Amino acid sequence: MEVLDTIYNEVFGFLGISQAWEIIKSGDYSAFRTYDGIKSLIYPLIPLLVLLELILGLAYKKPQTKVYKVNFLIYVFNRFVGRFIAIAMVTLLIGWLEPYALINTESNWYWFIYGYIVWELGHFIYHYLGHKVRLFWCLHSTHHAPEDMNLSVTYAHFFLEAPYADIIRTTVCLLLGVEPIMLFLIMFIDGTYGAFIHVGENMIKDARFGFLNKIMLTPSHHRVHHAKNPLYLDTNFCNLLNIWDRVFHTYQEEQTEIKPEYGITRKVNSGNFFDVYFGEVIALAKDIAQAPGLKNKLSYVFMPPGWNHTGVHKTSKIVRTTYLENKLP
Ligand SMILES: [Zn+2]
Ligand SMILES: [Zn+2]
Repeated sequence: MEVLDTIYNEVFGFLGISQAWEIIKSGDYSAFRTYDGIKSLIYPLIPLLVLLELILGLAYKKPQTKVYKVNFLIYVFNRFVGRFIAIAMVTLLIGWLEPYALINTESNWYWFIYGYIVWELGHFIYHYLGHKVRLFWCLHSTHHAPEDMNLSVTYAHFFLEAPYADIIRTTVCLLLGVEPIMLFLIMFIDGTYGAFIHVGENMIKDARFGFLNKIMLTPSHHRVHHAKNPLYLDTNFCNLLNIWDRVFHTYQEEQTEIKPEYGITRKVNSGNFFDVYFGEVIALAKDIAQAPGLKNKLSYVFMPPGWNHTGVHKTSKIVRTTYLENKLP
C-alpha cells in the first residue's frame, strides 16, 4: 500500500522521530550521548508539543481551527517546494565567505557565546528588514497572518523566507568569523527555541516566566511581536536574547492591561491559504500598478508597508508614535 507508506513516512517525518527510532531499534543507547543522538531527542519536542497544544485546545473548546488548518496547508506546501533551498544556500555561502572572515574564532564556549550574539544580530537585521521593506514584508507577512497564537504558527512561512533569512544571518556570522560548526549548533538551538516562543495561551497562559523576562526573549515578548495593537507594532525582533532590541530601541514588554490582538493590519481572510500566502504580494502588485511614475513604483517596493505615494502614510512607526503621543499626559 504505497499511499499508506507515504502517509506513514510523512507523519514520521513531521514528528522528526525517525532518527531516535533508528537508535532505539539498534539497541545501542549510547548513541543518544552523541551530538546527533541529542539532536534526535530534542528535534521531536516541538512537533509533539504542537500536537499536545492542539489536543488541549480541543479539550478547552478553543480549537483555533482556522489557524491550524491554514498552517497545516503551509507546512505541506513548503515541505514540497522550499525544503532544500535554505540548506543549499547555507552550504554555498560557507564555501564562498569563509575565506573573508574578518576575525578568526574557535569552537569553544566563549566563542559560542560570541557566535550567538552575532547570530542574533543577523537575525535582528533579517527580521527588521522583513517588517520595514515592503518587498521583504511580502515574504514575512505569511508568518504574521494568523489571528491566534499557537505552536503551529512556527510552520507559517512563505517558502522563500528561509533562504532570504539564512543568506543574511549566515553572511553576518561568517564575515564576523563564526565557525561553521558553531553556526550549525546555534541554528539548531535557535530553530528549536524560535519554535517554542510561539506557544499559545491554551498551553501557557502567562508566558513571562518571572525574572527570565528581564534577561531573555520569552514567548510573552514574541506574543507582543505578533500583535497588531498600536503599542506593540514592530517591536521585539530578536529570538532568544533581546540585546539588539534594547540597543536599537525596539524592545517592548507585554502590558497586563493590553491583551495582544494577533494578526496583521490588512484585512485578511486568515482561513484562506491563498490570501495568507500571497495576499501581500497581490496588494503590492496593485499598489505598483496604480502608482504614477517609476520613482513611486520603486518606493512601494522598498519603503515600509503603509507608505503611500499620496503622502498620507500609515506605517507602523507613525501609528505607534501617534499612539504614544496621545497617551502621554
Ligand atoms: Zn516578524
Ligand atoms: Zn513568530
